[in-house]
Amino acid sequence: MKTQIELAREGVVTPQMEIVARNENSEPGDIRRQVALGEVVIAHHPQRKHQRVVGIGSGLRTKVNGSIGTSSDICDIDLEVKKARAVQEEGADTLMELSAGGDLDAVRRAVLADCDLPVGNVPLYQAFCEAARKYRNPNKLDPEYLFELIERQLADGISFMAIHCGINQFSIERLKKQGFRYGGLVSKGGTFMVSWMEYNQKENPLYEQFDRVCALMKKYDAVLSLGNGIRAGAIHDSHDRAQMAEMIINCELAELGREMGCQMMVEGPGHVPLDEIAGNIMLEKRMSGNAPYYVLGPLPADCGAGYDHVTAAIGAANAARHGADLICYITPAEHLALPNEADVREGVRITRLAVHIGDVAKYPKRREQEKQVSLARRDTRWEDQLRLLMFPDRAEEIRKSRSPENEKTCTMCGNFCAMERGLSLFEKDIRGDKISLSL
Ligand code: SF4
Repeated sequence: MKTQIELAREGVVTPQMEIVARNENSEPGDIRRQVALGEVVIAHHPQRKHQRVVGIGSGLRTKVNGSIGTSSDICDIDLEVKKARAVQEEGADTLMELSAGGDLDAVRRAVLADCDLPVGNVPLYQAFCEAARKYRNPNKLDPEYLFELIERQLADGISFMAIHCGINQFSIERLKKQGFRYGGLVSKGGTFMVSWMEYNQKENPLYEQFDRVCALMKKYDAVLSLGNGIRAGAIHDSHDRAQMAEMIINCELAELGREMGCQMMVEGPGHVPLDEIAGNIMLEKRMSGNAPYYVLGPLPADCGAGYDHVTAAIGAANAARHGADLICYITPAEHLALPNEADVREGVRITRLAVHIGDVAKYPKRREQEKQVSLARRDTRWEDQLRLLMFPDRAEEIRKSRSPENEKTCTMCGNFCAMERGLSLFEKDIRGDKISLSL
């Protein structure tokens, strides 16, 4: 079986490219050209019957990922299935199943059976968790088992994998030599791998045998998302030498993987102050040859726990605006606990809003929804306004809980409603639609 990128290079427009083109209001030929260049990847699985096909990359709507998964403390398969359903119901584009507790094959299969979204994961979690159980020491993991697991998980229906190929002795040396790390290491998979490399005094097998990783991904036309194992967990670590070393290597691997015919994506960057977000995205795009960028957060401050979904939304809006292609949500539980179902719903909603804000800036021609909402608001057409909102249920709930006397207004200004007054004064003057002519 050939991959999307291999077929695209042969000039073939696949059914998946047609679906992406339809969903993105684009031309199939344009999507094919971008897939061939590696600027767009298509997350799907050749053997999953009920699944969405999602395009990720330049020129496309910025996508939202919601992650779920057990931990060693809280391990309830039904709960994770409910959370996966919540991710889908709230409108995320992809799901990551990141379990690290209990029967990991069982959780993954239950989630895959219940969900239509392309599902991604981090195979290192299961590999190291099982090694920890078996040998009482995750550093005793046999790398062969890691490759076996990657294949098993792909065969189950995983469409994209975050794999930490870019951590190598070079990037660890940069970490040791720079003499600081204010936020320590924050990637679970990355830390497992760094620990294994230090304990065994060996190179990362996923870096050494990168062609083998790509061959497995190609077998299932999965997207290889190059994990950001030394990402910054504090804004003071943003763009430090260790993180940049890994980013350079990931960007190099993105190019190598593409040459081998594998769909490639790069991950980053963790905690990044607002003024560095645009630069971070520019670096990833420039160094990787415009590979799709999967952004975690980014969190532009470190002290917002409890509201870190809002912190991250501010980062996500900026990241989307400057070219990030897929954004992983952050929930209110970030830095504090395993998210529950309510956290998941809130996380997806606010990330969708953040990404929408970013896309409004990134694609000025795609502001029709904003215009229609504003017109409905100006004309006090409440039903239309609610219908056009991103979260009509929430808006309606608030409005109904505080109903006005005059149903054309709301209880904010009541009888002094500026909208109503403005419309009655200037109705004839403000009905024009000149903006559409200039866009
Ligand atoms: S009452 Fe005030 S807040 Fe409510 S619709 Fe009118 S102008 Fe807007």
